[in-house]
Amino acid sequence: CGIVGYVGSQSALEVVMAGLRRLEYRGYDSAGVAVLADGGLAAARKAGKLVNLEKELGARPLPAGTTAIGHTRWATHGGPTDANAHPHLDNAGRVAVVHNGIIENFAGLRAELAERGHELLSETDTEVVAHLLAEEFSATADLAEAMRLVCRRLEGAFTLVAAHADEPDVVVGARRNSPLVVGVGEGEAFLASDVAAFIAHTRSAIELGQDQVVELRRDGVTVTGFDGSPADVRSYHVDWDASA
Ligand code: GLU
Repeated sequence: CGIVGYVGSQSALEVVMAGLRRLEYRGYDSAGVAVLADGGLAAARKAGKLVNLEKELGARPLPAGTTAIGHTRWATHGGPTDANAHPHLDNAGRVAVVHNGIIENFAGLRAELAERGHELLSETDTEVVAHLLAEEFSATADLAEAMRLVCRRLEGAFTLVAAHADEPDVVVGARRNSPLVVGVGEGEAFLASDVAAFIAHTRSAIELGQDQVVELRRDGVTVTGFDGSPADVRSYHVDWDASA
């Protein structure tokens, strides 16, 4: 229900957790985060309120990193359990994805992935995306391109945000019929389902268009269509009261 992504020089986990707190008003049943650190990817996910995730992070801290993604979930496919909470990872644990919305054709994709030897561990429609991204990344070594290729195969309404351990300074987002906003800072960039998540850090925002993919790096963002065509990027100034 809420999505936050960050790449910069701050503690990514703190930025993402604070962003998720700002999105709590939307309602959710589980929460999770993934951080890229030390050449790997580490994730934590918990059913229930953010405080449950905070307790989990207190008991089993994640390594410090400057790239992270986070999610608050409103379950549509699979009950509100730890295993169904996002982020979802591929079997190698190299790519993590969070998702708002519904992937309508997930059952067919699941069957296809199972046939190719993937082991799916949740009941969500989301998990297929992590496995598909892993496959496309191993062919392209480019997470944004992997995301474009995967999105072309998805049906439904979705916002997706992903990170890959082999591209530790990149966060990629995509959207179709579901909101996703980019925040552009000085040497850092944000992604969220709502500007409320990053308004404390930057007022410069880019609204992602329909069927677009954004690649976030510290020094800037690149937006393309699902077909790879470059997209027009217009940033705007968010002037609302941060205390609202
Ligand atoms: N359909 C996904 C799930 O059930 C995402 C739900 C959401 O938008 O939070 O896990």
